[in-house]
Amino acid sequence: MTQARAYAAHSATTPLVPFTFERRAPLARDVAIDILHCGVCHSDLHTARGEWGHTVFPCVPGHEIVGRVTAIGDGVSKFKVGDFVGVGCMVDSCQHCQPCADGLEQYCDNGMTDTYNGREQQGKANTLGGYSDHIVVHEKFVLRVSHAEADLAAVAPLLCAGITTYSPFRQWDVGPGQKVGVVGLGGLGHMGVKIAAAMGAHVVLFTTSPGKRDDALKLGAKEVVVSKNPDEMKAHRNSFDFILNTVAAPHNLDPFLQLLKLDGTMTLVGAPASPHPSPTVFGLIMKRRRLAGSLIGGIAETQEMLDFCAEHQILADIETIAIDQIETAYERMLKSDVKYRFVIDMGTLKAAHSA
Ligand code: NAP
Ligand code: ZN
Repeated sequence: MTQARAYAAHSATTPLVPFTFERRAPLARDVAIDILHCGVCHSDLHTARGEWGHTVFPCVPGHEIVGRVTAIGDGVSKFKVGDFVGVGCMVDSCQHCQPCADGLEQYCDNGMTDTYNGREQQGKANTLGGYSDHIVVHEKFVLRVSHAEADLAAVAPLLCAGITTYSPFRQWDVGPGQKVGVVGLGGLGHMGVKIAAAMGAHVVLFTTSPGKRDDALKLGAKEVVVSKNPDEMKAHRNSFDFILNTVAAPHNLDPFLQLLKLDGTMTLVGAPASPHPSPTVFGLIMKRRRLAGSLIGGIAETQEMLDFCAEHQILADIETIAIDQIETAYERMLKSDVKYRFVIDMGTLKAAHSA
C-alpha cells in the first residue's frame, strides 16, 4: 500500500479539502502512475455535489488523467516505467460479458468500474479518482499517449471530453458532406467542434453565450447559432444529419430536433441532474427523426481517439489551475465560463496539503 495525497468532497454541500488515503500496491497486471495533470469535467461537479444522487463520500473526483508510469506488475506487457500514459473514466469492467468482449466496456452488463465513485469488480471498494498524486490501474484500462511532452496538460481532457464526443461521431458515421451540430461550447462541446471538423464535417455550433461566437469559429465551426434567437434557429430547419447535445442543464430539446432532416439523429451526452422537458412526439415522427444517448467510449476506441488527435494535432484549449482553486473552477463552470477546460496542475497538491 502507498499513501496518496488528494482533494476530496466529504459531503454534497462542503468544499473539497485535502485528504489522504491508501492505494493498493501494483498487482501483476497493474500500472502505477504519478499523476501530472487532471482535467475538470462537469461530471466531477455533478458527483461531488451529489446531483446524480449516488455519491459515496469521501469522494475524490477526476477522470481526465495524464501521468508517468513509476512501477509495473510482473505481468505487464504494454507499458514500462517512464512512459507517459492516460486514464479516463473507467478503471475496470467484468471482462466476460458480450459488451466487454466487443470492446464496449462502458456498457458492461455487470457494470463497469468508474475511475471515481465506482465499485471495484473484486474488492467492492469505492474508487477514488484523479484529484490525487498517483493511481494504480490494470494495464488494460491504461492508454498510450503519443503527444509531445509539452502538450500533456492539454491532452488530459481528451480522456473524457475527447472520447465522449469522438465515439458518437464514429457511431453515427460523421464525415465529409455532412452537416453536424454541436450544442453547448464547454469542455465537451469544444472538443466536439474540433473533432467533427477534423473528420471533415460542416460544423455548426449552438451556444447560449453570444460572446463565444469568435472562439467557436476559431475552433473549427463554419457557422455559429445563438440558440436563444428563434430566427437564427429557423434558418437551419430540416437541414442537419447529426446533432451532438453536450448541455449540462435541462432545456427544451424540440427547437434542436426540428433542425434535423429526414432520418437525422440528435445524440445526448450532457447528463443534467433533472430531466429535459420531453420532446414533442410529432417533432420526431414527422421526419422519422431519432433521439439517442451515448456514454464515453470503449478502451480500444479511446486509444483510437488519442491516436487520431495526435495525428491531427488536436489538443484541448485549457486554463491551468492549482488544486486549491477547484471550487472557483466549479462556480465558473456553472456560469458557462470555461474557456474551454480547466486542468489541475497536480504539482500543486503538495503545497495545498502543507498549507
Ligand atoms: P461544461 O464545460 O460546463 O459545458 C456545458 C456547456 O453547456 C456550457 O458551457 C454552456 O455552453 C452550455 N449550457 C450550460 N447551461 C446551459 C443551459 N441552462 N442552457 C443551455 N446551455 C447551457 O460541461 P462539460 O464538462 O462539457 O459536460 C457537459 C455535460 O456532459 C455534463 O452534464 C456532464 O456530466 C456530461 N458528460 C457526459 C458524458 C457521457 O459519457 N455521456 C461524459 C462526460 C460528461 P454555451 O455557453 O455555449 O451555451
Ligand atoms: Zn468526464
